[in-house]
Amino acid sequence: MKKNFKLFSLLTIVFTIFSDSFANEKIYFHGDSQSKKIALTFDDGPNDSSLPKILDLLKEEKIKASFFFIGKNILSNKEEVKRTYDEGHLVLNHSYTHSNFNTASQETITSEIKEANNAINNILGITPTLYRPPYGIITENEKIVVKNLEMNIVLWNVDGEDWNIKRSVDYVIRTQEKETKNGSIILMHTQPNKDTSYEALKKLIPYYRNQGYEFVKLDELLEIEPYETLK
Ligand SMILES: [Zn+2]
Repeated sequence: MKKNFKLFSLLTIVFTIFSDSFANEKIYFHGDSQSKKIALTFDDGPNDSSLPKILDLLKEEKIKASFFFIGKNILSNKEEVKRTYDEGHLVLNHSYTHSNFNTASQETITSEIKEANNAINNILGITPTLYRPPYGIITENEKIVVKNLEMNIVLWNVDGEDWNIKRSVDYVIRTQEKETKNGSIILMHTQPNKDTSYEALKKLIPYYRNQGYEFVKLDELLEIEPYETLK
């Protein structure tokens, strides 16, 4: 019985390792679980309300993070986009309109991703290669498009639900503390005029530091290039 159990455990481990590196090729949920590194990621900016507050806090705490911006809000928040990049954070792609792409064609998704990249490129002169789908929903068409564009999809393995208006700051903190492990990618938000993320982050930073975690950007956590490089 014991032997069977051991064999079963071994098979489970082998299966997990293989499914992680093959089935999810180019879709990242987390980094190396052997290292104490974690990545804070913020979706749904840019804006001139919650984003500057989070940037102030990160600056004060000397933390670099990764931001997935919505293309259509980039031009009207040019200064905030520049500031995010200039302060050493990654500026990445969260589509142009943040729509649900469940039934969207490859053409639609291609133009959504390209337009967001163009908006970023027009201001910063860089082209992101990391994409996070709106609502974290990945369709078959999306997988094909991302592959054709030679980009990667980055999701997360920690979601404290700071986006959910029903969740309190305490709930977000408790959930993030429970879910975070070595190599975690943490989903947070800079939604306009919403302070849950900021309030939770203020308490989570000292918690993570006490646990010995080091904050890094996604390129370091996943050991990949975040922007197109000249070939
Ligand atoms: Zn989003």
